[in-house]
Amino acid sequence: MKQLPKSILVEGKKYRIKQVYLQDTDDLDVCGFIIGADQTILIDRRLSLPEKWETLLHEVLHILNWRLGENTVTSLSSRLFGVLVSNDLLKI
Ligand SMILES: [Zn+2]
Repeated sequence: MKQLPKSILVEGKKYRIKQVYLQDTDDLDVCGFIIGADQTILIDRRLSLPEKWETLLHEVLHILNWRLGENTVTSLSSRLFGVLVSNDLLKI
């Protein structure tokens, strides 16, 4: 599987991708986070590579539509990741 890119273009805006240690909050595991003002997507570096990709897709979906709820985004990112994997689109 490909490594995550250093940046990603989302509808003409370039977002940097940083792999960092994200702190877990009390009631939810945070795998990824978007700093909108900084155009940066943070991904927890402790995740496996497939989990990092799924998290990246998840955060991109948030960028594309801030109104989508967390459950919808999680479901869509998981299924989109499945489509990419089953078509070998994330292969090196
Ligand atoms: Zn989310």
